[in-house]
This record gives sequence, C-alpha cells and structure tokens, in this order.
Amino acid sequence: MSFNALIIDKEDDTISANYRTIEATDLPEGDVLVDIGYSTLNYKDGLAITGAAPVVRQYPMVPGIDFAGTVEESSHPKWKAGDTVILNGWGVGEKHWGGLSQKARVKGDWLIALPDAFTARQAMSIGTAGYTAMLCVMALETHNVKPEDGEILVTGANGGVGSVSTAVLSKLGYTVVASTGRPEEMEYLSKLGASSHIDRNELSEPGRPLGKERWAGVVDCVGSHTLANACATTQYGGTVAACGLAQGMDLPATVAPFILRGVTLAGIDSVNAPIEKREAAWARLAELLNPEILESMITEITLSEAIEKAGELMEGHIRGRIIVDVNA
Ligand code: NDP
Repeated sequence: MSFNALIIDKEDDTISANYRTIEATDLPEGDVLVDIGYSTLNYKDGLAITGAAPVVRQYPMVPGIDFAGTVEESSHPKWKAGDTVILNGWGVGEKHWGGLSQKARVKGDWLIALPDAFTARQAMSIGTAGYTAMLCVMALETHNVKPEDGEILVTGANGGVGSVSTAVLSKLGYTVVASTGRPEEMEYLSKLGASSHIDRNELSEPGRPLGKERWAGVVDCVGSHTLANACATTQYGGTVAACGLAQGMDLPATVAPFILRGVTLAGIDSVNAPIEKREAAWARLAELLNPEILESMITEITLSEAIEKAGELMEGHIRGRIIVDVNA
C-alpha cells in the first residue's frame, strides 16, 4: 500500500524537505493506522519544513503536528475502523511521523474523537493553532477575567492562534484589541470580532517595567519584548496567557507586574495537555465557531504545495490558517 508524504531529510548537516511515495510498512510503531483527510501548516511546521529552528528531533521525519482523519486499523480498545479522529501535538511531526502524509500510525492514546459539529476539514481549519487559542481563552476564564473587566489584547492577531482567539473571545462577549503588523487586514480582523487594533511596533521595543494599566487579559503569541510590554500594561489582577514566540523566545521583563499588580502569567502548552483538557477545548470550539467564520480564516492547499507555503508562513505572509488536503 503506497501513499504520498512530505519527508524532511538530513544529510551531512543539510536539511531538506522532499515529497516521496512511501509504504505503510515504513510508518513508525503505533496501535492505530489513520487515513488522513486534512492536516495543516502551523508555525511549528513552518519551522520544521524550512529548518529555521531545530523542531525535528530525528530524521527522516514526516512533519505535521496535527491531522484529522478516519481510523483504518486499530488494536487500541478505544478506537475501531471507521471512527473519525483528531490528533494535536504529542511530539507528532517532531519525533514521531506526522500529518503531512496520506496515512499516519500513532498511539491511540493520543487521539480524540472528531466532534460531531465538525468535518475533518473544519476541524483542521481550527487545528493546533485554534485549539491552543481555546486553551489560552480557558486560562483567562480560569483566572476569572470577565468581559466586563475591560479590553483583551491579542498579539499576532492575523496568525492562526490570533485569528481563532479573536473569534472565540468576541463570541464570548469580550472586547478584543488586535495587535498586528498588518493593519491592512483590519477588515478581516473586524469580521472575526476585533473591535480595534494597535500597531505591533507599539509593543515590540524594550519598554518600562510598568506602564498605564490597560488590558484585563492578554493572549500572547509573540513572546519577547511584546510579552514583557503586555504584562507591564495589564490591569491590576489581570491575566496574560503566553503561548508563542513569533518575535522571540526571550522574556526581557521585570517582576513588577506580578508583585505590584498581582498579574498572572499563565503558560499554555498544547503538546502534552491531558486528554480531558483537549476534549473540553474542542467541545468549546464546537460551540463557539461556526462554518462561515472558519471558512473566512483558511487558505486551502494540496500536499505538494506545503513546502512553498511553509516558506511564506515563516515570512509572515499568511493570514489565518493553512489547511492541507493531503489527498488532492
Ligand atoms: P502564525 O505564523 O500563523 O502567526 C504568527 C503571527 O505573529 C503572525 O501572523 C504575525 O501576526 C505575528 N508575528 C510574526 N512575526 C512577528 C514578529 N517578529 N514580531 C511580532 N509579531 C510577529 O503562527 P501561529 O498562530 O500558528 O502560532 C503563533 C505562535 O504560537 C507561534 O510562536 C507558535 O510556535 C506558538 N504556538 C504555541 C503552541 C503551544 O502549545 N504553546 C501551540 C501552537 C502555536 P501579525 O501579522 O498580525 O502581526
């Protein structure tokens, strides 16, 4: 049984991404074989495919940190042939072959059921970026940030996490201020529910330990000075959910917002989040996102376009989410 996959190879310290036909017997160990319908390109996949950061832990590697599809074979008690499933994270696409392929063999413990509300295509319109956005919003809720408390800042707003965060927060009644380097996309962000925007340059330079209190909460996809400045301008008792590093992995901040304003910095990890939290996040997404909103966020590509699009993603030219029809 041969099928198509994108494979990252490493030879003499040179990394290259290639399209190849492989056999099911080439797939790594696992108790569930999935016939993939859709995968996506997340920021991490962009890093892996372009080799911009050492995301891949062993070679050759099929990238793709998420996928949705149908179980073809299973020896796992929870899954049988014909079940529709989603996978996000668990090191898939980093140390276990991932979703940019027509088939994947994975551990059944990593899978969750595709919510009835979504097709595989719609689920991947959300993908790991959208599921991470939901985890960020759930963190704000856990720390009691309410719509009446004031504005919520979303950084990297035009990206995948930022777009879904904006749509979900707005649907929940929060007032969203989108921080973006692409003000020309404000119409798109308004349709998702952003009420206004700020230029991301306002946050990206070194700032003061504390600034004027503005945000009731923050979803930060960007890290570095942006995250430091977001913390410094969060209101007394507010919460900052930090999930990303699009500007940088550093955090050049002081403890002032935490010890003088009781600000909470909530770290968000989607990769190893427990199954119950994943299921809760996907159930919320099914309630909050409708097909029209999802359609407005996506660019759909074929597997054979993934390498080129990964480059564009890294250059910051993609709005919203890229979904990959692996069978087209
Ligand atoms: P995207 O590439 O879709 O979006 C990133 C956005 O960040 C861009 O669209 C841009 O938004 C903004 N941006 C890019 N470069 C810079 C820069 N130098 N300075 C400031 N802003 C910048 O990525 P995703 O939305 O998929 O992911 C966002 C981040 O979240 C990534 O760092 C990713 O690794 C991380 N992530 C973390 C997860 C976790 O489990 N913690 C899971 C998923 C993602 P704009 O054009 O609007 O300015």
